[in-house]
Amino acid sequence: MSGNTLADDIGADLVLLNGKIATIDPSDSTVEAVAVRNGRILKTGASDEIRRFAGSKTRVMDLNGKTVLPGFIDSHEHCIRRGMQGDYVNCGSPPMETIDDIVKALAEKVASKPEGEWVQGTRFDETKLSDNRWPTRYDLDRASDKHPIYLGRAGGHNAVANGLALELAGITKDTPQPPGANIGKDDQGEPTGRLDERAAMNMVRGLIPTPSDEESIEIMVENWPRIEEQLLSWGLTTIHEAHIKAPAATAYQELLSAGKLRLRVGLMLDGMAPYEGYATSDLSRQGLRTGFGWGDKLYVVGVKIGVDGAMGSLTASLTQPYANDPENFGINRVTQEELTEEMVRLHRAGNRACIHAIGDDAIDITLNAIDEALKSKDWKDHRHRIEHAGYVRDDQLERMKRLEVAVSASIGFCHPIGDSHIDALGEERLSGYYPMRSFKDHGIVAAGNSDGFGRNWALTGIYSCVTRKSSTGRLLDAEQGISVMDAIRVYTMNAAYLERKENEKGSIEPGKMADFVVLDRDILTVDPEEILETKVLKTIIGGEVVYERS
Ligand SMILES: [Zn+2]
Repeated sequence: MSGNTLADDIGADLVLLNGKIATIDPSDSTVEAVAVRNGRILKTGASDEIRRFAGSKTRVMDLNGKTVLPGFIDSHEHCIRRGMQGDYVNCGSPPMETIDDIVKALAEKVASKPEGEWVQGTRFDETKLSDNRWPTRYDLDRASDKHPIYLGRAGGHNAVANGLALELAGITKDTPQPPGANIGKDDQGEPTGRLDERAAMNMVRGLIPTPSDEESIEIMVENWPRIEEQLLSWGLTTIHEAHIKAPAATAYQELLSAGKLRLRVGLMLDGMAPYEGYATSDLSRQGLRTGFGWGDKLYVVGVKIGVDGAMGSLTASLTQPYANDPENFGINRVTQEELTEEMVRLHRAGNRACIHAIGDDAIDITLNAIDEALKSKDWKDHRHRIEHAGYVRDDQLERMKRLEVAVSASIGFCHPIGDSHIDALGEERLSGYYPMRSFKDHGIVAAGNSDGFGRNWALTGIYSCVTRKSSTGRLLDAEQGISVMDAIRVYTMNAAYLERKENEKGSIEPGKMADFVVLDRDILTVDPEEILETKVLKTIIGGEVVYERS
């Protein structure tokens, strides 16, 4: 019997040899080689052993000692909707350094549009601007007072409108504050242009002509390959898409049926406040339960609902005020009663809740709601999730564990926007800032995400888990740092657990999906500072090489 007979019988499609493959199995074992067949891992082991699975049709990849990890899973992003932002002016930093830079960029777009047409900017972040303040309507009026301008802030919870946009929306000093939102006003009560949270933002945003659902689907399908290519180049093999509305869900299904979806995508359906119950009641009316899907490329992980705003813009709700704004406790978009009602409805219908809660006050409200839901119906191993969990008090950790809540932690914020969070929380509260060490110590399963901030999401998140350093080198409580191995687990196994696929993905073990990343250096042994510079050489999904660094 020759080796060929075995190989032809077993018929591996792909073998990786001579690598350092960190399997992320329960005993942190490392192997040299892995064989793949039909998109699944056939066997792992020593190179000599695995080489025997290579037949005449097998692709053999010599890793030359390179490090391989399970494919990265980012558990909270908003990717496909980036395809809709083609006509928007990117006002993020970099490249913007000052408010003048933003005004100039908007003015360029203004010059390309007839008077009266809307101009939209996105992703500004005042904490990154040297002006040290928010842009106002008066700044934007310098770009144009003949075009309505709407400038969205990074994070999606705030915006600034120019004078004409406010006028069209009928926002004056007499406009009452909408519930769960805030219209910024100066000492004289004049609107400053600032709008916090959906109810205020929609007063202006609602006036902007939007493409029809059909046009949106077309635009998203067309722009997806460019977005996906970037995600694959960052080693992502699965993303959880938060807050998906019908056009995006349709676009993903079109991509899937056209064979154009390479990434695996878990959807959180849109159930955001104000809760009209449509996501939940529709799903339960149709008897659909979390976990249904369209195969292992596109499926539903839960329903996204939410409580508060964002920390950088000081709208996450805290029980003690912001360190840099002592009167401000943040914003809750919903009451306890509303959240509990929706949470109970979701839980009873058998659908996982993915609840946006950043501040400790929002987390209290969330845990109260989950507590009530668990009393209303027995559901073992529900894996309801808190999305973000930006500031967690010690006493909340016990309660999270008791209620078996899992966390999609935005630890990926630490590097790109950690500085603004230090200012917002103050030094004393940093031990509860995305407390990865405490989550682990309490047995709370925490995955990671970047929610759109920064770049190279998973590796930046792993760097943040380990070093807890902001982009300017400030520490966000180093005591909460975890080992590189545990940090990798955050972006692999723990994230797989959050989608209840820990038996399918998240580690390199026989039977699991063949999703891998090949790195240009061994992040388990290099100086942790180097993790940030680490490049993905190859990304493999279901045994297919979907990205190769040139
Ligand atoms: Zn989000």
